[in-house]
Amino acid sequence: MADGKPGARAALRAHFLANLGRVMETDELRAAAGNISEWARRIRELRTEEGYQILTHNDRSDLKPGQYLLESPKPEPAFERDISKETRAYVLDRNGFTCQMCGAVAGEPHPFDPTRKTRLHIGHVIDKSMGGSDDPANLRAICSVCNEGAANLTLDRPSAQKLLIQVRRATSAYQLELLTWLIRKFPAQARDLSGK
Ligand SMILES: [Zn+2]
Repeated sequence: MADGKPGARAALRAHFLANLGRVMETDELRAAAGNISEWARRIRELRTEEGYQILTHNDRSDLKPGQYLLESPKPEPAFERDISKETRAYVLDRNGFTCQMCGAVAGEPHPFDPTRKTRLHIGHVIDKSMGGSDDPANLRAICSVCNEGAANLTLDRPSAQKLLIQVRRATSAYQLELLTWLIRKFPAQARDLSGK
């Protein structure tokens, strides 16, 4: 521990876990890490190597630069850190960068909590405990809110009939927003349908 590396990371991990849900500033975290110069790098390792969802202003619009927040003691499953960048990009693209449970779009404010920017994870369609594989066909984009088990808040996939009723009753502004989203999701089909 002479270089302070494993010690500082462990100290930061313990500090975050002891302060769940409390926004912390750089001074406090630097001190918790024993005032080493690489304290911010140790925090990044807690995210990238250990899977802790430490949030910053990049994740939450109500956080200022230099503020950090850990809400859940549960790290991301190790499986997600093991999947390749290519598989991750493929699944996110196929799912239109949209959570397949609640419909939240990556980088946009989350519909259940507008202060949170939607961050997407890769999850299984059929859970591994039920025999599901890590094959891309069994993977899907899931936002952090749904991933944290807010399943009781998530919507069932609507039937086509129910969905059309909802769309017809929506305001023109929402219908146009939907049209824009659909054209972006299906550019080739949109061109065919418009006869160009
Ligand atoms: Zn979601």
